[in-house]
Amino acid sequence: MSVLPIFNSFNPILKQKTKPISEITDEIKNLAKDMFDTMRNTENGVGLAANQVGKDVAMIVIDLSDVDEYKDSGIGELVLLNPQITDFSDETDFYNEGCLSSPGFYEDVERPISITLQYMDLNGETVILECKNFFARVVQHEIDHLNGILFYEKLSAFRKTLSKNKLRKIQNGDYEIHYKMIDADGNLQTN
Ligand code: ZN
Repeated sequence: MSVLPIFNSFNPILKQKTKPISEITDEIKNLAKDMFDTMRNTENGVGLAANQVGKDVAMIVIDLSDVDEYKDSGIGELVLLNPQITDFSDETDFYNEGCLSSPGFYEDVERPISITLQYMDLNGETVILECKNFFARVVQHEIDHLNGILFYEKLSAFRKTLSKNKLRKIQNGDYEIHYKMIDADGNLQTN
């Protein structure tokens, strides 16, 4: 088990588009395990993108096994390689999102309620899934990460202005966390 430090959202790696995975190596499989360990160590994480642990590959892990709505759904733990959204619903809703890379910052974000997701699993099989509600939201938040997009960049200009001071604190590493982080400049934070 390896818990990896999580990169601050102001670190440049979170602004880069990740590279597609062409071969499922042991390195990729081990990274998936480490990403689950890392996410569980945060206690409230439900999704994590590889660039949030400093790895430039298009991989996401999701764990909805503790979310009431999905307890009996069989969704549970998922590893998504090269995930793509191939269809969005016109209907949208708002939800108060947060991110392990920007601790303590939450804002309502508007997103489509349902999506069609296509990805490759760890066996190299292509999977197509219809996702709704919270599941669809988590997938969209994490795929945005793989494309270098942060959830607070989707806020209205007005909400962005109101969020400025809080985001500056995150940029400066001024927050309380119980997991390790790499700050905006690439240094390991030890608080
Ligand atoms: Zn995030």
